[in-house]
Amino acid sequence: MTISRQDAAALDRSDPLAGFRDRFVLPDGVVYLDGNSLGALPRNVTGHLEKVIGQQWGTDLIGSWNIHDWIDLPGRLGDRIGRLIGAPAGSVTVADSTSINLFKALAAALSLRPDRRVILTEAANFPNDLYIAAGVAGLMDKEVRRARKHELAAALDDEVAVLCLTEVDFRTGERLDMGLLNERAHAVGAVVVWDLSHSTGAVPLDMTGSGADFAVGCGYKFLNGGPGAPAFVYVAPQHQMGLHQPLTGWLGHAAPFEFAPDYRPAPGVTAMRVGTPPILSMAALDAALDVFADADIAAMKAKADQLFELFTGELEGVDGLSLASPRDPARRGSQASFRHPEAYAVMRALIGRGIVGDFREPDILRFGLTPLYTRFVDVWEAARGLREVVEQGLWMGAADGHRAKVV
Ligand SMILES: *Cc1c(COP(=O)(O)O)cnc(C)c1O
Repeated sequence: MTISRQDAAALDRSDPLAGFRDRFVLPDGVVYLDGNSLGALPRNVTGHLEKVIGQQWGTDLIGSWNIHDWIDLPGRLGDRIGRLIGAPAGSVTVADSTSINLFKALAAALSLRPDRRVILTEAANFPNDLYIAAGVAGLMDKEVRRARKHELAAALDDEVAVLCLTEVDFRTGERLDMGLLNERAHAVGAVVVWDLSHSTGAVPLDMTGSGADFAVGCGYKFLNGGPGAPAFVYVAPQHQMGLHQPLTGWLGHAAPFEFAPDYRPAPGVTAMRVGTPPILSMAALDAALDVFADADIAAMKAKADQLFELFTGELEGVDGLSLASPRDPARRGSQASFRHPEAYAVMRALIGRGIVGDFREPDILRFGLTPLYTRFVDVWEAARGLREVVEQGLWMGAADGHRAKVV
């Protein structure tokens, strides 16, 4: 179904989340539908960083570790993220990158099932996660098995030590049933590690209720923590005692400043920390999370679903475009993906017109629907632009043969 631009503007006027857009810095003349890859800059981040740099680093210098409690910032941020993913206080810490947290979480999970050899994952998982799983498996003499999404439950047997999955598919936005897969995995005695990179800050999550064992996720996508923002890791309370992860650095030690010759893990999720936290990056993430303190994730997902309906409705019947995302909102994160045989050129042409999404191999046009700063008129404009580019062949010549390092 298609609607007029005035109708889209009316949806914005009655949108309860409309006020959040002002809390972000967004360039004029750009429709930004890539917040699932790099979240936009929350307005309060710059001022907060100036304060942390000027007053804390610049004035209080090393005393800031205590005066401003820099040392416990990873745990405070972990608790803030914990509230977004349905995890109890003290079960999440911010640390390192998603990749490194996945490495640690997989190793810790494997060590809970020492007599089993298999990490089961999904064939279309984010390739980075397949690489990390292979790396961990190589070091620990384990093996990685891959199954398709619908074959996962059947592939679970008593050889599987760890099931490693990404909740929202980076290409299509398809969402797995976390509670069901946890239940199936536990029924065969396996432990589950979830990657929530495309879920956190986008969809309601419940680590406790769904029975997840470990989870990791990204700070710079829907959480808007800035490029390369620190990531997070969740460890379920029942796995925190005797947690064993191989990157045994001093800030995961029970008493770093005793400088004891032998490692003794800190209690709880703190044992997932490794080295000195990047305070400036964490400060940016801290300020970015302020926005979520005032936003309801269920309302955000509801708006993302309305944006999806508008966007896909406007694009129905466009020759050459096929929807790659599930139509059922319960099975989808906050994105809309389409396939097109010339997807790369189509995206270059769109970006040239100020409509920013991204391309994913082999033929995916990906659009993040970030409800805090995306208006209905933005999505309407993007759909019109995409329709014109595809129907009028404006993509021809848009890919000049030279691909940037980052697509
Ligand atoms: C974005 C993303 C990551 C990012 O990992 P980095 O260590 O930050 O590079 C990891 N996993 C998934 C599923 C992602 O989408």
